[in-house]
Amino acid sequence: MSPQRIDIKTDICIGAGQCALTAPDVFTQDDDGFSQVIPGREDGNGSPLLREAARACPVAAISIREE
Ligand code: SF4
Repeated sequence: MSPQRIDIKTDICIGAGQCALTAPDVFTQDDDGFSQVIPGREDGNGSPLLREAARACPVAAISIREE
């Protein structure tokens, strides 16, 4: 699988937490509940759940780019 780059649009994230629930090995939530990529896992960590997490976001704040 080619490396991927995750972009979270923090200005539209509503802190729903679906991403962290779906792919907890890639996403976490900051103190305010907003999505964050776990440090060092910006490439998706090879997670098969990454795309599912992006789809699960209710406001489509997560985009994934193939590098
Ligand atoms: S699922 Fe979307 S809205 Fe919810 S925390 Fe993740 S990025 Fe934010």
